[in-house]
Amino acid sequence: MASLRSRLALALIKKKLPAIVAADPVADLGDGLHVAIVGSGSPLPDKKRGNPCVAVIAGGKVYIVDTGEQSSETLNTMGIDAGRIEAVLLTHFHSDHIGGLGSVNLQRWVAEGTDSRLRVFGPPGVERVVNGFNEAYTLDCEYRTAHHGEVFVNPANGAMVAEQFPVPADGQSDVVLEVHVLVVTAFEVDHSPVAPVVGFRFDYQGRSAVISADTIYSENLVTASKDTDLLVHDALSIELLMMVSEASTAAGLNARGQILADVTDYHATAPQAADAAEKSGAKALAITHIVPPLPLKGLEEVFLADAPDRFDGPLWLASDGDLYSLPAGGGLKRSNLIGRRR
Ligand SMILES: [Zn+2]
Ligand SMILES: [Zn+2]
Repeated sequence: MASLRSRLALALIKKKLPAIVAADPVADLGDGLHVAIVGSGSPLPDKKRGNPCVAVIAGGKVYIVDTGEQSSETLNTMGIDAGRIEAVLLTHFHSDHIGGLGSVNLQRWVAEGTDSRLRVFGPPGVERVVNGFNEAYTLDCEYRTAHHGEVFVNPANGAMVAEQFPVPADGQSDVVLEVHVLVVTAFEVDHSPVAPVVGFRFDYQGRSAVISADTIYSENLVTASKDTDLLVHDALSIELLMMVSEASTAAGLNARGQILADVTDYHATAPQAADAAEKSGAKALAITHIVPPLPLKGLEEVFLADAPDRFDGPLWLASDGDLYSLPAGGGLKRSNLIGRRR
């Protein structure tokens, strides 16, 4: 005989399940440009933050910028249907930005109504990454088609297509994707010694958002972000990261200490992200790719330092699930798609 608790749980889930399965928050979004932070963390393990991934939603379609590990799981938790993914855009090929690509493609492939291969846009190098994931997933694709049949998991759509574009010239932005009135442009940023690395700007119905990628303070980014409604910028705290580095070295973990110290030279700090937002005329700033993890709430102020004083606009430390909505008519609304579904 099942316990009262298990019978109640079963009754509750039976009642709620149809609404949960049918939920489609993307369909509920009004016309406009919507930017969802899927993963706001970095390669450093962080209980609160997944690896980098941003979903930009326009005209009912979803465009994924970077696919860190856990991207498809968090997209699912946020209620963003993988079948709506129109394209993936990769900023660069660091592992924390590509680790979840295979899973994102798999979830889209098996989603309702998928009738095309997933296009993955990126600078030179994207073909190697896409071909590698395609190869790694070849057996999985064969198993699933054999098990579920070609009607629901069409083998013709299982492999991704690499769409390589040249790195834009210094100071320039190039259009890499146009879908109806949505225009996506790319521009080069500075994450040296890693190259190529590009940021993306999305323009739709008079609204715009810029995703910085991994970069130090970049004049190219400032130019490309001119008067944007929302700048999403990476940031790192040198003070906090060096604390972790020095503690690692003191504990005899010399490799970890050195690697962490090396990381300080190829990301902007929060005050530098604020400077970029201020100089570009951005209307709002969301800081993401948080390095190092901030296990205590009080550390958020330390991380931001004087960033809020350097930018004359709203500034947020992004969390996984955050949704920044830019309605076609104007304004900015902020919510969290994970919190709403709990
Ligand atoms: Zn990187
Ligand atoms: Zn990164």
